[in-house]
Amino acid sequence: MTTFEYAPALESRSIVTIKPEYGHFINGAFVDGVDHFATINPANEEILSRIALGNAEDIDRAVDAARVAYEATWSKMPGKERGKYLYRIARIMQERAREFAVLESLDNGKPIRESRDIDIPLAGAHFFYHAGWADKLDYAGLGHAPRPHGVAGQIIPWNFPLLMLAWKIAPALAAGNTVVLKPAETTPLTALLFAQVCQQAELPAGVVNIVTGDGRTGSALVDHPGVDKIAFTGSTDVGKAIARAIAPTKKKATLELGGKGANIVFDDAPIDETVEGIVNGIFFNQGHVCCAGSRLLLQENIAEEVLAKLKVRMAKIRVGDPLDKNTDLGAINSAAQLGKIRELATSGDSEGAQRWSPACSLPKNGFWFAPTIFTGVTQAHRIAREEIFGPVLSVLTFRTPAEAIEKANNTPYGLSAGVWSEKGSRILWATQQLKAGVIWANTFNKFDPASPFGGYKESGWGREGGRHGLTAYLKSAEAQQ
Ligand code: NAP
Ligand code: MG
Repeated sequence: MTTFEYAPALESRSIVTIKPEYGHFINGAFVDGVDHFATINPANEEILSRIALGNAEDIDRAVDAARVAYEATWSKMPGKERGKYLYRIARIMQERAREFAVLESLDNGKPIRESRDIDIPLAGAHFFYHAGWADKLDYAGLGHAPRPHGVAGQIIPWNFPLLMLAWKIAPALAAGNTVVLKPAETTPLTALLFAQVCQQAELPAGVVNIVTGDGRTGSALVDHPGVDKIAFTGSTDVGKAIARAIAPTKKKATLELGGKGANIVFDDAPIDETVEGIVNGIFFNQGHVCCAGSRLLLQENIAEEVLAKLKVRMAKIRVGDPLDKNTDLGAINSAAQLGKIRELATSGDSEGAQRWSPACSLPKNGFWFAPTIFTGVTQAHRIAREEIFGPVLSVLTFRTPAEAIEKANNTPYGLSAGVWSEKGSRILWATQQLKAGVIWANTFNKFDPASPFGGYKESGWGREGGRHGLTAYLKSAEAQQ
């Protein structure tokens, strides 16, 4: 049989201009930082730029700027006028979509096909969606003329850098809050390009402030007394630390944390479509997805067939240069994350699960991990309980629907789940039993700005997206200051 290889189809990086060094974006202007750190391209370890390491003084200046903008301008502006700025930002993001996509793939390691077709269009869609809300807050469910909280401190992770920024900034601004946002240490570049978009849109100074840095910068933002609300997306451990830090204060919080999503396949599921859904569920974005379908639960009588087809499909996953338009699986975001994935995979070996990966050659430089499945996984194994946050699928089996639900819910998390079955009544039954914030049926990893997203148990507090997410940035007119 003749096999056809794909010729390289590299996206040009000439569309982006990366400066050798960046400062913070405070009060509408870029200001120099004191110390700096490097952000690299995880696909080849090239240093892309030097980024300012925000300290407590930088946070203080940014919070002050956000407070002044809140009191003097943004909270006083009619919703219709705020909406115009959000529309303008959304349109500029669309116009500069290629620039954003290339920059995101360079800084994060994700395939250009995903940043181009998913991350960046969805980020723009979040601004369009919330622009529409800005003058309709009376319909948010909090009564007449609900009010913003004030200054929002927002901290985001590295897996969907621009998209997480959009999830945070768009609803905050639509509701009339001003923000100080800290991007993740390994992926600050698209947030800094977004700062330029704010300038281009002539957003009033201080409405959006971006302070780059590491965990200490985030911690200074959480602790700042001038912040009224914290919105955090990241690990459950840091989320718990934030909850403890703000417990004695009046700060409001939403926390979007980790997950260990179950993807349940019943024996009447359409197998070929299901295999696509399994691949999308765990290998999308290198598995760096909080709502990934990282625990596959297969009904025992079809397990062999599904696994055989899954292996054939996995052998077709193209791993390599994120800027190649053919690439399906890009680089792992950092050396630290690669170390974590390797450590958990090794625990899978030593605890007795069977590892399988297709033959694939990985680039020499950069951080890479082949798409991997573990079969023979039991509920006691670490790889069935802990979030791996990488392209690693743990496969378990079940005999009855009740057993499937019990195993799916046997986790401290509760962010997402998937159900595959041709029977509508079984899908409805299963979704009612599953303790997860988002449940997909016969699909996986579908996102929409109008749809609330968030978890049960240790997966978080509150929702983002839709009316539910918007209300986290509002209080009723009667609420105390
Ligand atoms: P992380 O270590 O918790 O970091 C998240 C953000 O918090 C980063 O900006 C980080 O800065 C900052 N940070 C670290 N320590 C902090 C502290 N003590 N106080 C305040 N901020 C601090 O998480 P991650 O490893 O980057 O991201 C992966 C995690 O995010 C996974 O567990 C994943 O499930 C979760 N996630 C959840 C969702 C959701 O919507 N539920 C979405 C995406 C990801 P540095 O980057 O400088 O460390
Ligand atoms: Mg980077």
